[in-house]
Amino acid sequence: MPAQDSREIADLLSHAADGGRISPAEALLLYTDAPLHALGEAADAVRRRRYPDNIATYIIDRNINYTNVCLTACKFCAFYRAPKHEEGWTHTDEEILRRCGEAVELGATQIMLQGGHSPELGIEWYERIFAAIKAEYPTLTLHSLGASEVVHIGRTSHLPHAEVITRLHTAGLDSFAGAGAEILVKRPRTVIAPLKEDGETWLSVMETAHQLGVESTATFMMGTGETNAERIEHLRMVRDVQDRTGGFRSFIPWTYQPENNHLKGRTQATSLEYLRMIAVSRLFFDNVNHLQGSWLTTGKDIGQLTLHFGADDLGSVMLEENVVSSAGAKHRSNRTELIELIRSSGRIPAQRDTLYRHLSVHTDPAEDPVDDRVHSHFASTALKLLPVAAKSSAGASN
Ligand code: SF4
Repeated sequence: MPAQDSREIADLLSHAADGGRISPAEALLLYTDAPLHALGEAADAVRRRRYPDNIATYIIDRNINYTNVCLTACKFCAFYRAPKHEEGWTHTDEEILRRCGEAVELGATQIMLQGGHSPELGIEWYERIFAAIKAEYPTLTLHSLGASEVVHIGRTSHLPHAEVITRLHTAGLDSFAGAGAEILVKRPRTVIAPLKEDGETWLSVMETAHQLGVESTATFMMGTGETNAERIEHLRMVRDVQDRTGGFRSFIPWTYQPENNHLKGRTQATSLEYLRMIAVSRLFFDNVNHLQGSWLTTGKDIGQLTLHFGADDLGSVMLEENVVSSAGAKHRSNRTELIELIRSSGRIPAQRDTLYRHLSVHTDPAEDPVDDRVHSHFASTALKLLPVAAKSSAGASN
């Protein structure tokens, strides 16, 4: 690398580490050319300044996939079944409530209801189930659905997005998950999810939600054939909205699993690319508080390394997950292991809630919670361990 370029990169890293804003072009230069160690160090400096208590967090939650029926047919998705397909199912209210009850018993504080875009589930179905969960388990936070579901429900029930958001919120939804963002940039999004709303619409729904007082997270699924410039463009699109609303609580990049679906054979984002993306995200998002590293799709070792590349959170123990695991994510974890991953990286582990408040700070290993039931149940095991009470071929979202 020419000496002038190295100085430019060193200056940029120092500027960003000190909290200065970097442009998308500068982020791209750092993503492609900055030495890995220096990039990680700069991102970690930002993380240390934001979180001088040296705490890294995790959450206990359950991802309840309420239906696999979906008419959006994303090309990367191995979870969905088309409407009327014989393998389509939708959980009954009783089954969803039973799963919520199990989650509460295991210490979960958050439920993520995520499902297909079923043409049979309109706004009333969501209102009914949210109200029922809140009535029976008032302590559970419903961090659920997302912008794609708002668009879908709006179409199914012939309602404007703002009204869908308001009605869901009134029924009990606390915040939106960042799911469905995939990659927001037009070219790659059209290739992998041609029937999904476009990236501008996804962002506009989130902006409306933030204006109505419903916060959310934002995600990024890397590794479906997008270019480096498109990766950075995704970050720019999210940051621009965040400048106007401040409603994204965290940014959560993860890598696509190409094992079981139509995009098999595409280049998966490598572990190094993932670590570089984590670091650049921390430097680029001077306006987003939290950055989550994923162990689910990249493995626990890389998940742990993200804590040295700017991440302050390792996400969820995930008592249940079926969508990403259907696509090929093989990793499992449990509470004890996540605590140990965090501690052995030199950080203080803490269980958080949806708002990132610390519920329990694990300063003394001798007092760590011991409950081997608090571990991941995924597609291959979830239905065996957690029998489905009833299935039907209804349909609905992501
Ligand atoms: S909208 Fe969600 S469930 Fe439906 S195909 Fe796409 S990723 Fe799968």
